[in-house]
Amino acid sequence: MHQVYLSLGTNLGDKEANLKMAVNEITKRVGKVTSLSAFYTTEPWGFTSEHAFLNAVCRVYTTHSPMEVLRITQDIERLLGRLKKSINGAYSDRMIDIDILLYDDLQMETPELTIPHPLMWERDFVMIPLKEIAPDIIHPNHER
Ligand code: ADP
Ligand code: MG
Repeated sequence: MHQVYLSLGTNLGDKEANLKMAVNEITKRVGKVTSLSAFYTTEPWGFTSEHAFLNAVCRVYTTHSPMEVLRITQDIERLLGRLKKSINGAYSDRMIDIDILLYDDLQMETPELTIPHPLMWERDFVMIPLKEIAPDIIHPNHER
């Protein structure tokens, strides 16, 4: 079994329902969700939008490899109606975005997948819910 932390974000539609549906699908397809943070209302990060985000982090136990977890979570994004991907780092409104934050102690960097998620440490919308459910997590190179 592998321990994975996922971040979830949505800023369109019924945001609370989107997060709940995402957690449901993650439970069915990725594995047992053993911890789920509160849902946090946050401002858009990296782009301007009139639609605030609702964010959460969950911990999942899975037998799937990192690439399989990416494929499954991207399927769930599509299923929940996320049609546009961000292009060249341009962010946009979305029904649901699921990012892989941590996968055991794994460090990997490929064109498709970087773990730990490289921007997680500077994003309050990730770190605040993550610290709620995993207070001991610290960046290998950051004193925080
Ligand atoms: P963002 O999450 O930055 O808003 P996307 O969800 O559209 O943008 O993701 C863009 C790409 O980032 C994905 O297609 C995926 O291949 C890649 N990626 C790299 N590392 C990760 C990760 N740790 N978790 C999720 N996606 C990742
Ligand atoms: Mg993403």
